[in-house]
Amino acid sequence: MRLSKTFIKTLREAPNDETAQNGALLTRAGYIHKEMAGVYDYLPLGLKVIENIKSIIREELNKLGCEEISMSALQNPEPWEKTGRFSDQEVDIWFKTELASGGKLGLAPTHEEPIVNMMKAYISSYKDLPLYAYQFQTKFRNELRAKSGILRGREFLMKDLYSFHTSEEDLDKFYTEVERAYERIFDRLGLGEDTFETFASGGIFAKYSHEFQTFLPVGEDMVYYNGDKSTVLNKEVLSDEVLGDLGVKREELTETTAAEVGNIFKLKFKYSEPLGLKFADENNEQKNVYMGCYGIGVSRVMGVIVEKYADKKGLVWPEAVAPFRYYLVGIGEAGVVKAEEIYNKNPELCILDDRDIRPGEKFADAELIGIPYRVVISERTLSESSAEVTNRRTGETKLIKIDDLISEI
Ligand code: ATP
Ligand code: MG
Repeated sequence: MRLSKTFIKTLREAPNDETAQNGALLTRAGYIHKEMAGVYDYLPLGLKVIENIKSIIREELNKLGCEEISMSALQNPEPWEKTGRFSDQEVDIWFKTELASGGKLGLAPTHEEPIVNMMKAYISSYKDLPLYAYQFQTKFRNELRAKSGILRGREFLMKDLYSFHTSEEDLDKFYTEVERAYERIFDRLGLGEDTFETFASGGIFAKYSHEFQTFLPVGEDMVYYNGDKSTVLNKEVLSDEVLGDLGVKREELTETTAAEVGNIFKLKFKYSEPLGLKFADENNEQKNVYMGCYGIGVSRVMGVIVEKYADKKGLVWPEAVAPFRYYLVGIGEAGVVKAEEIYNKNPELCILDDRDIRPGEKFADAELIGIPYRVVISERTLSESSAEVTNRRTGETKLIKIDDLISEI
């Protein structure tokens, strides 16, 4: 990316109505643009971060044999009526609209009903199972409060995975595989050390569902953890019975705020039964399909990463999700030529700050935009055939030989 050519601009101040740190920094650094409360546009840098998060999730799910699909965001009320969930009393965050020809539509808040309905076309025998399908998709929810930047959107990106099985054992086995995959995903996203699988309510036949909660001062959820954080539970399940179940004592628990980045549910027949998703077993008997569902809030994860790593100067991206790896600044004629040469070796990895502004402004923007390595090339560094490379996170600066830098790039 050449900063002289991109349309995005950094801002000194965040708009007044952007009170959340993640929203303010991402707006100032040119990653997102706010349409209205809880609704954001993703600009070139923001979209790259989203794509990097998606790639990590996709790689880990594909390893489990999951297949990627993309379902429609406009939803037919029919399957939702069969489970009772089209009702605004049941689900209070619906956005609904009307067809010109008459009749209602829903804007996808989630996809259990539509995918179960769709799978009736593809699942009829035990030979069709198990199967695992996931998507990255925009969800619409009429959230009462949307003041947390991209942590809580009225339109947001979710990864939702659905699994279909012939037996409870098979569902249990896959559920465990997803738990491990989620751990790898959150590790790779740079959230591993603060993200814990928690016991949550909403278990349907299992006693609990599980959430993945990242400990975070601005998180909207309250969780409790024991001394070595081997047991973490959500506030809503905190009771004497549950404490007994989990073998922990109230006195040893500490309370903290957290953001829910993902969750996993054993659904069993919750949706397959009302929607009539069945399979014929080896004896040709019709049986309900066992199901699980597994979400990750992709855009919320981006906001959580911002909140966890940002400092006073701006964003700080872990390398795995950063939109670019290097931020190149050439100073003086020879420095500018060399920066341009390095940029051309791999424009996909670099931002070239070739704007006609003072170096000090470029350095401030390099920090605001949060690219892992700032590379400065000047007459002085060139006299040692080197570039000055500064690590955004640690602030550490090193002189690195230009040749070594070029071969790394
Ligand atoms: P929450 O309790 O935060 O409202 P939820 O239980 O409604 O979450 P799910 O319906 O299970 O969440 O959605 C799966 C994931 O999508 C959540 O774990 C969360 O990371 C993310 N998510 C849910 N609602 C939003 C939202 N309004 N904006 C951004 N991400 C969201
Ligand atoms: Mg919700």
